[in-house]
Amino acid sequence: MNRYVEDVIAYVKDKYKDQPEFVQTVEEVYTSIAPVIDAHPEFERADLLKRMVEPERMFRFRVVWTDDEGKTQTNVGYRCQFNGAIGPYKGGLRFRNNVNESVIKFLGFEQTFKNALTGQPIGGAKGGSDFDPAGKSDLEIMRFCQSFMTALYRYIGPDTDVPAGDIGVGSREIGFLYGQYRRLKGVFENGVLTGKGLSYGGSLIRPEATGYGAVYYLQEVLKHEGDNIVGKKIAVSGYGNVSWGIMKKAAQLGAKVTYMSGSAGYIHDPDGIGTEEKLQFILDLREKNSKDLKSYADKFGCEFYPKQKFWGVDDVDIYMPAATQNEVDLEDAKKIVASGVKYYLEVSNMPTSNEAMAYLKEHGVIVAPSKAVNAGGVGVSALEMSQNAEMMVWTAQEVDDLLKRMMKEIYEKSVDAADRYGLGYDLVSGANIAGFEKVAQAMMEQGVF
Ligand code: NDP
Repeated sequence: MNRYVEDVIAYVKDKYKDQPEFVQTVEEVYTSIAPVIDAHPEFERADLLKRMVEPERMFRFRVVWTDDEGKTQTNVGYRCQFNGAIGPYKGGLRFRNNVNESVIKFLGFEQTFKNALTGQPIGGAKGGSDFDPAGKSDLEIMRFCQSFMTALYRYIGPDTDVPAGDIGVGSREIGFLYGQYRRLKGVFENGVLTGKGLSYGGSLIRPEATGYGAVYYLQEVLKHEGDNIVGKKIAVSGYGNVSWGIMKKAAQLGAKVTYMSGSAGYIHDPDGIGTEEKLQFILDLREKNSKDLKSYADKFGCEFYPKQKFWGVDDVDIYMPAATQNEVDLEDAKKIVASGVKYYLEVSNMPTSNEAMAYLKEHGVIVAPSKAVNAGGVGVSALEMSQNAEMMVWTAQEVDDLLKRMMKEIYEKSVDAADRYGLGYDLVSGANIAGFEKVAQAMMEQGVF
């Protein structure tokens, strides 16, 4: 591998050894882009790779709120404005008890390249808190969100940094966050957040966009294999916002999701999770953040497997991890290969360990990376920003058509980038290279800082 790439990976491993998720993603991206560094010695002279692993700005803050018993609670908030070379910082907020600096940095680093891939003018960011909305009342969540935004509002804005949702942050949380922003600033500046409700500037199709986009990307992959989606069975991890979008679009296109999972276990529903009643049930579970996946099995008469993962089941055609990071390790990858399932499309951010990813690729599984597959979500968020700036509301059809086109272009850019560097049909390296090239060019043109 290129010596400069090796040096920077070694530097990050040493300097950030207490940030394993961040190290993992840097190693994954930089290993992929080594051929680009070979071809561009000027990137080493400009020390581009070391500059790119340092966020332009990152801060943490105290978030204090009062629970329903009147007790004071303290959490930590984060915002990482990773890279603004191609546009205002843009990336979600995650509320979950396992959020820490390493998780926020890995997500911000990934977001930078993903946003570049969308073709939209948006830089990379991420934020969140170790606050977990599960089991909290609406009023507790409101008080937490108000306190969080009171700490953050000075540092964000429609042209500066535009947060959105992620794990634990849906339209309810975005509503509370925006209300507090408006109250503090005294202006109606709704382009500051995306994923908003339709009544105050949200975009049609945004709630579905990440899941729909993932299925549109899947269609491109299947087309390449001379295959199509009709009749396909899919195992999706998670039952949150993204998984719900996948289930809905899969059902519309004649496929079905037959497995889904959460941290408590998994469900097998051989009939598919595709009727309106089932989809509404999933949506309600997500909105309540109840973590009660078993209630689905009780209601719809199917099996719940507590504390187990479904990797290795062989009665599906496609695996789509869509819950969280590091869902699939080497042992899981071995089970997937043994199952004979041909397609593995990452949807959640970094669901696969680097060893597992290498194993899947080596054993002929067709693998697609999350930074491409899930990019439709942030892509439609950028469309929400455009609608807010223009004071326009686009129809669902218009947004959906743009999303479809965006996913096709992301797929094609990835195929083309891998091909240009002689890597063959490699969607993982191709996505990393295409995203990197755009950010690198902008940074080179803007001078040394
Ligand atoms: P949600 O909070 O709506 O859902 C998350 C789902 O993942 C839940 O079903 C949850 O189940 C499960 N989950 C969370 N943590 C764990 C864990 N440690 N182990 C097992 N299961 C877990 O989040 P989203 O659907 O919005 O996001 C899912 C993934 O997609 C994340 O990686 C996110 O970064 C990524 N993503 C999301 C986008 C969006 O538009 N929302 C855009 C791009 C990427 P339970 O609560 O029962 O544990």
